[in-house]
Amino acid sequence: MKSFDVYSVFDIEIVKASGSYLWDIQGKKYLDLYGGHAVISVGHSHPAYVKAITEQLNTIAFYSNSVKINLQNELAEKLGRLSGYEDYQLFLCNSGAEANENAFKLASFYNARKKIISFNSAFHGRTSLAVAATNNSNLIAPVNETSNILFLPFNDIAALEKELDESVCAVIVEGIQGVGGINIPSVNFLKRLRELCNEKGAILILDEVQSGYGRTGKFFAHQYSGIKPDIITIAKGMGNGFPIAGVIISPLIKSKKELLGTTFGGNYLACAAGISVLQIIEEENLIENSLLQGNYLKLKLKTIPNIKEIRGEGLMTGIELFEPCSRIRNELLFTHSIFTGSSSNKNTLRILPSLAITQSEIDVFINALRLSLTQAN
Ligand code: PLP
Repeated sequence: MKSFDVYSVFDIEIVKASGSYLWDIQGKKYLDLYGGHAVISVGHSHPAYVKAITEQLNTIAFYSNSVKINLQNELAEKLGRLSGYEDYQLFLCNSGAEANENAFKLASFYNARKKIISFNSAFHGRTSLAVAATNNSNLIAPVNETSNILFLPFNDIAALEKELDESVCAVIVEGIQGVGGINIPSVNFLKRLRELCNEKGAILILDEVQSGYGRTGKFFAHQYSGIKPDIITIAKGMGNGFPIAGVIISPLIKSKKELLGTTFGGNYLACAAGISVLQIIEEENLIENSLLQGNYLKLKLKTIPNIKEIRGEGLMTGIELFEPCSRIRNELLFTHSIFTGSSSNKNTLRILPSLAITQSEIDVFINALRLSLTQAN
């Protein structure tokens, strides 16, 4: 058997990682400013994280959700405290798409409606309804097509006011659009969205799969607007590479047996990883570091020529160039040994490093980008 070939891959085999660095099979060292799609939150192979998972593996790795798993409560309590959502409830699952699928189900169980509003350039995952709510027709198979999803222009309050009526089950919006090219929902847009959802009885879902977990300098990106959603979905940085995801649910929505369910969600190993990530974020002040280093990065980027626009908050940064970013990405990788990300907006580089990145690591990137962008013109 061979693997099902679905990705364009770089001809590089990574075999080791530590902090912000990766090593390939030939021993070449790379600076990682992408964290494998925003997954690496506390740094690769963080010793406390490795210890926590190893100890858990030596104790018990898995049993089903038919028994009490107290680590789930420990994780929920810690997450509630650090995120400011202590009165909300946590359902654990395994991936961002799965978290969004469960969010849609919960919303629809709650108000018995079907219509979902999503936005242009949105990405919510590759399964069933999550992919239907993703604004990329290439990813949607005929079986995923549904008249239940309506796409509206992003940040367009007038369009919201026109379309958000009593037939709408839920509105889903990213805290900051990631795959779409680092687009920030405006504070006024989120505030009006919150008001309209309240007025019309629709559930507001904030997809913080990429923008959450301290990446933007707040625990969740939407906290820049002061609103509180009914449901928040999380994944990626939550496990620093261990597959774990969650649905954070307002007290408005009451739990009921069999409403949701999962085999692997909330397993011992995933919880140990999740608890360790939160502990490290807290002990090492990584949310503060995100803000500090993100601001430093933006300041330095402003001194580089041939950049059209810099977008983002904290360590979720989009650098829009005047050309498709693939040439610069390749040069950064193959000449300067730096991993960066692309986005569906072809001209925008995505920079999503570990939240523990240092100023001197950012300087290495800035010097390399300056060279690439000045030589290019
Ligand atoms: N939501 C957002 C905002 C994402 O960026 C992603 C993945 O990139 C997902 C959902 C899907 O997450 P997963 O790949 O874990 O299913």
